[in-house]
Amino acid sequence: MPKLETCESCGVPLMVSKEQSWGDNGVIAQTADPAHRMLFYESDNIDQLFAGIEDIIGLPVEHIVIESKAREVRAYVENMLSPLARKAGRLMGTNMMVKRLSRMGRAYGYGDIAMESRGKNERGEEYITMSVRNPHSVLFFCGENLGAWEAIQGRDHKVVRDRVAENEYKITNVAGDHPVGLSGMLKTRNYEFKPGDIQLDRCETCGVPLLVGSYRWDLDEGTIVHPETGRRMAIFGPAGLEAVFNDLAAELGDAIPEAVIEAQRRHVKEVMAGPALAVGDASYREMLAIRGLGDLTEFDGSREALAVTLENSCLTLMTVGMLQAFFELGAGRHASEYAYVAAPDGRLKVDIRAL
Ligand SMILES: [Zn+2]
Repeated sequence: MPKLETCESCGVPLMVSKEQSWGDNGVIAQTADPAHRMLFYESDNIDQLFAGIEDIIGLPVEHIVIESKAREVRAYVENMLSPLARKAGRLMGTNMMVKRLSRMGRAYGYGDIAMESRGKNERGEEYITMSVRNPHSVLFFCGENLGAWEAIQGRDHKVVRDRVAENEYKITNVAGDHPVGLSGMLKTRNYEFKPGDIQLDRCETCGVPLLVGSYRWDLDEGTIVHPETGRRMAIFGPAGLEAVFNDLAAELGDAIPEAVIEAQRRHVKEVMAGPALAVGDASYREMLAIRGLGDLTEFDGSREALAVTLENSCLTLMTVGMLQAFFELGAGRHASEYAYVAAPDGRLKVDIRAL
């Protein structure tokens, strides 16, 4: 396997620093398509958030998450590759696709991805089996893999997953109908990003924020780990998560937004509990900016309440749940209530009050 090049100063893979730029306005943008934003975000959060939503609403959501993710990735690949390129990909490009996926996995924190086998099963149907160790999210991996394969194959497939060991899965796509059809439309939210003036200390060689470079990038395992807390990070787009929340709300109703906020509040409180939270506005602003969650322009907190304004916001529901958790941890509260306004221009105002 060719070695992934890394920055000699900070150790971040060059693939990451070339393909993304961390702005001073709280946005991580793709270099090739600056309107397309990305996150550098705690990846354990993803599957645990969906498990938390299942707990709260008492209904399974996994199949909708996989379906939503597959639809987004299929549309993305179909947009990116012409029908002819997809046909060529069908004939000879699978290995190339798998190689690219495997390199991305190592650099972006998606785990160690490889092709296990492909061919025809006993019913004569085409299948492909991928193996993944340390997936950043099993559900997202299933959906992404399914969507990319469907775009290349030009027809629907089903996904079957087997857990073969702790943190290790085999995922098979085989021709067949989906278990659910989604009624909602694929929506994307776009607005002009506002400029910002966040001071991020950066690597002099590759330009990535030093805080990002302080994580441990293990290219064999495909993991990005905080050296002290051990929490894992991954680089992925917020649009996919937002699409999943929209689809969950379209399928399961109005209880979803509240359930997402509550699941996130519980999750963040659980993982962030401890002494590490004694920080001021400047570190909150930096903490949000290196994750690509927006530009913190107002932060006014007491033991009774917290008022926050973010420009260039994304992932509204998760951000509200996270701020609620920060408030409760910082103010030593067990419960709080929230109100928020997410404006179409990306400004998010959140008010949290102690209960
Ligand atoms: Zn660097």
